[in-house]
Amino acid sequence: MKIYNTLTQKKEEFVPLEEGKVRMYVCGPTVYNFIHIGNARPVIVFDSFRRYLEYLGYQVNFVTNFTDVDDKIIKKANDEGVSATEISERYIREFRTDMDALNVREATVHPKATEEIDGMIEMISDLIKKGHAYEKNGTVYFKTRSFAEYGKLSKKKIDDLEAGARIAVSDEKEDPMDFVLWKPKKEGEPSWASPWSDGRPGWHIECSVMSRKYLGEQIDIHAGGEDLVFPHHENEIAQSEACNEKEFARYWMHNAFLNIDNKKMSKSEGNFFTVREICDQYDPQVVRFFMLNSHYRSPLNFSKELMEAAKNSLTRILTAIGQLEFLLSGNSLEDREMSEQEKQLLVEAKSLQDKYKAALDDDFNSSDAIAAIFELVKLANTNLNSDSSKTSVQTIYDLIAKLCDILGIITQKDEELLAEDIEKLIEERQSARKNKNFARSDEIRNLLLEKGIILEDTREGVRWKRS
Ligand code: AMP
Ligand code: ZN
Repeated sequence: MKIYNTLTQKKEEFVPLEEGKVRMYVCGPTVYNFIHIGNARPVIVFDSFRRYLEYLGYQVNFVTNFTDVDDKIIKKANDEGVSATEISERYIREFRTDMDALNVREATVHPKATEEIDGMIEMISDLIKKGHAYEKNGTVYFKTRSFAEYGKLSKKKIDDLEAGARIAVSDEKEDPMDFVLWKPKKEGEPSWASPWSDGRPGWHIECSVMSRKYLGEQIDIHAGGEDLVFPHHENEIAQSEACNEKEFARYWMHNAFLNIDNKKMSKSEGNFFTVREICDQYDPQVVRFFMLNSHYRSPLNFSKELMEAAKNSLTRILTAIGQLEFLLSGNSLEDREMSEQEKQLLVEAKSLQDKYKAALDDDFNSSDAIAAIFELVKLANTNLNSDSSKTSVQTIYDLIAKLCDILGIITQKDEELLAEDIEKLIEERQSARKNKNFARSDEIRNLLLEKGIILEDTREGVRWKRS
């Protein structure tokens, strides 16, 4: 499998540090609000990538973090008059709800920055000891120029950065390029005791620390959105490599932006839709499909038209799967030897499976992989029917379902209740109520609710609707 490595700016053959195992770290969200669908892009892409690695037989140790201490969290807490923990815990819960909806699997470890402060203090102390950091008035700075390779990921030269950028020159810093590892608390901020001040860590140090703790000093893959290349990932490399004296991550993967009108979707610009809002309008599976239907390194423009197109495409796949299920559920299919034509069909199906795999092996081209699923769907639609052999239908059905599953696309629909079953249950609930059997009547109401059926008691009787 080849991966495009931001560090070398080339597609490279993926060779893990340890055979059969992958150590992967993805920078997670800052939890101060509902995530927008731009934030969902790296989550969906790298969850699917992880699933593919597992399909290839790797044992994946997948770590992603919650940044749960940060200026924005503190500001929101102060605005609402609640603690920072209340804000971060609330949005961690909301994040998990969104991830469940999008069928994103839980990480192997999902640490929170505030629970890793000791490790951060230890790494900062080591960096000071090794001459890569210094303290001034309770603040600790990383001495950027002490790390000779600074800029190797983002291909920026430190002298150009210093000359060109409008970097606020702080009197305290020895050099404007130095960045904060630890800062003293201000009034009303959460803080932890440290050898330098009661305070809190800078943002970058948390990922260096959590990555080392849960994955080791060297990891295979580090990933995130492309806005993280500089300064976040550049600074992570400087901290980790200066401290551990080893190459930090072998492969760096970055997804391109989700845009609106060709501008990055972002909280600060206000041009965003939350995952929650979009999932009110579309099945979350459509959101997942929409993200995977383009290559992760291509910018993706969000629009209603493209979401509608994604919805229709996904429906085509699910309809084909439903039809095959229908054929398999009846007794019409013969359990006979496959005809020559059917054998040929399975050869074609196998070559489409190879095409799918080749696409994902080529820098995780999920868009071309989905195109191969479509060809398979077309093959099924034109060739399989009630005269087909059971083996051919079952084989193609299993294959389409498997190829969707690898990308985390759910193909099994929840059984929908038919209208006549609903009417029957409503009748039973009415007579239970008449007989004062309220336990049963509540049970029926809840059962219907679980299936998305809402009951309304009106003067004309009970009405129902699907939610
Ligand atoms: P944040 O909470 O802003 O640090 O973002 C969490 C993750 O979402 C990071 O990996 C970002 O790079 C990524 N991200 C933020 N905005 C977008 C966007 N519009 N498109 C794609 N990824 C994004
Ligand atoms: Zn990070």
